[in-house]
Amino acid sequence: MQIRTRVLVFAALAVAATVGCTVLLWIGAARSIAGDAEQEQVQVSSRLIAGLVALTNEYALHSEPRVVDQWQQQHEALAATLSAPVQSGETSTARLALRTSAAELPTLFRRLIDLNAQPAGLLTQRSRDLMVDQLLARTQALADAAYRWSREAAAAEQAARRWLRIGAGGALLLLFGTTLAQPIVVWRRVLRPLSVLEKAAVAVERGDLTARCASTVRDELGHVSRRFDAMTAALGQRSAELHRSEQRLRAIADNMPALITQFDADERYTFVSAYIERVLGLRSDAMTGKSMREVCGGKLYAEFAPYTRAALRGEKTTFESQLVVAGAARHYQSSYIPDFDDDGKVRGFYGISFDITERKESQMQQAASERRLRTLTDNLPVLIAYIDRESRYQFCNATFEQWFGSPVSRVQGQLVADALGEELYAQRRPFIERALAGERVEFDQVMQLTGEDRHVHALYLPHQEDGVTLGLYALVTDVTEIKRNEAELIRLARFDPLTGLPNRRQFDERLAEAMARTRRAHQPIALLFLDIDRFKTINDSLGHAAGDAVLKEFARRLVDTVRVTDTVARLAGDEFVIILDAAAAQAEHVARKIVLAVRGDFFIDGKTRMVTTSIGVALFEGDAMTPGELIARADAALYAAKGSGRDGYRVAPSAEPPRRPFEAGAPLAPRLAHALPAGPNGDV
Ligand code: GH3
Ligand code: MG
Repeated sequence: MQIRTRVLVFAALAVAATVGCTVLLWIGAARSIAGDAEQEQVQVSSRLIAGLVALTNEYALHSEPRVVDQWQQQHEALAATLSAPVQSGETSTARLALRTSAAELPTLFRRLIDLNAQPAGLLTQRSRDLMVDQLLARTQALADAAYRWSREAAAAEQAARRWLRIGAGGALLLLFGTTLAQPIVVWRRVLRPLSVLEKAAVAVERGDLTARCASTVRDELGHVSRRFDAMTAALGQRSAELHRSEQRLRAIADNMPALITQFDADERYTFVSAYIERVLGLRSDAMTGKSMREVCGGKLYAEFAPYTRAALRGEKTTFESQLVVAGAARHYQSSYIPDFDDDGKVRGFYGISFDITERKESQMQQAASERRLRTLTDNLPVLIAYIDRESRYQFCNATFEQWFGSPVSRVQGQLVADALGEELYAQRRPFIERALAGERVEFDQVMQLTGEDRHVHALYLPHQEDGVTLGLYALVTDVTEIKRNEAELIRLARFDPLTGLPNRRQFDERLAEAMARTRRAHQPIALLFLDIDRFKTINDSLGHAAGDAVLKEFARRLVDTVRVTDTVARLAGDEFVIILDAAAAQAEHVARKIVLAVRGDFFIDGKTRMVTTSIGVALFEGDAMTPGELIARADAALYAAKGSGRDGYRVAPSAEPPRRPFEAGAPLAPRLAHALPAGPNGDV
């Protein structure tokens, strides 16, 4: 039962006992008073009845009217007394009988009076005596009834007093019981469980989380005790978990490849991981409680002090330091992390130190490697750069600075657009975007470098890892000299080195172009095939160099004779060709002019030399002739000119319609044989 319920029950019992006592005492007292009053009525009634008996006797003896009055007064007093309310009510049979008997007496007494008033006689006397006896008997019966009434009243009073005693005794017993039971209940249900609870609380306070109240009582304190047990059990569980967690943390900390420490606000070690034993051979438990200055020594502490002070100010710091471990220098990277309490105050700091020796050495090796690479790239005549996905230079060699004047240190990290300028970037941008899309891009550009136009060849190689393009390598070479050499080679391949005239290759191209033009525009051309007459003799007599001089002079005269739009080419040896934009008549005119121009003296090695040439002329007016056929026709005409005595020209017969079949070496038709004025060598 709940303590509260018990208290309420006890209170209710106490109230009930008090009320019961009061009611019983009150009833008892009332009954006792009523009993006393009834006893008094009985006494009065007995006294009045005795008086009536005496007055009846006196009246029987003396028959005095005075007695009649006294009897009647006495009887009225008796009637009044009997009619007064009594404690037993109308239930008392004795009293009822008394009242009934008393009510009959006046009738009898009046009859006696009436008998006394009758004349004396024996019968009257006899009646009178009978009446007196009857009256006295009735009165005496009243006395008996009064006596019984008295006995009944006394018995009723006795019963009331007995019940009063029983009620008062019971109420007192109840009061006593409840008064005595309360301390027992308080001791058993309150004080004893509280004592057990206090003992358990003290045990828990001392750290014994196994202490329990183990109460099975189902009241408030039992409930509190079980709550306490549950709380202690949970606390024990938490404590065990905390312990396990701490052990796990320690195991992690001890097995980490790093030194983990904890310091209080006085820079004293509160935790040191086992790393210190493995690497430095120091005992971690021996360090706990000692200050950093004691453990590290003044010199090393002075190095760490700025960082410990910063950590104690609430700042996280990271720094590198160098220690000599087992005779070798080791590099460490350490971080101090402030440890704040619940109020945000710094109560110490954590330290974590990693051995970064390998990383450091690797960095140094990488730096050396980068320096070597930079030295190499800086001395290459190639611009080498790395551009990342954001079009930002991440690397560029010294060539960049030589070409653009921007220091490498400034360019690295700069956007290409900023480093090159918007205009140059706009030119490069499509290529950069293609390379960043994963394509190998090569292109040539002409750009202004160090104040002059330079040809550059750029190669953009995408830098890809796992299929993702991370950037591009740019290799830009200044190919200006190569371009020049190429141009020279091309030029050499298309020109005769001795005379500077177009060679056979260029002639072939130009002839094909000219023939195509003729077909398009219907403008005829003429092909002149020239050969120096008896050139071998010049070589033989004057030497090869003199022959070359003749060839050069011959070429010059040809060029001077024709228009700039005409093409003069040297095919080989002393063979030359001219492509003329001209019809037949003009061609013949030019051929004649050439023959005459060549006849002029050649000054070779201080000597005058006569040189002549023979020319074969072939016309092309847009028919289905091939260049080879046209050349063959001109060659045949030349052959004809040679055959007809040299120093002259011959025109090949028109191809369409051929008036006469033309064959190389065949005698020329007379109309085609144009004799020119005789030259010094006598050729025609
Ligand atoms: P023809 O009148 O029949 O033409 O007699 P030719 O002596 O001129 O004979 P041909 O045209 O066949 O001889 C050409 C000579 O030109 C042969 C060769 O030795 C000479 N020759 C070829 N190339 C060069 C050259 O580059 N320089 C010099 N000096 N002579 C060359
Ligand atoms: Mg010749």
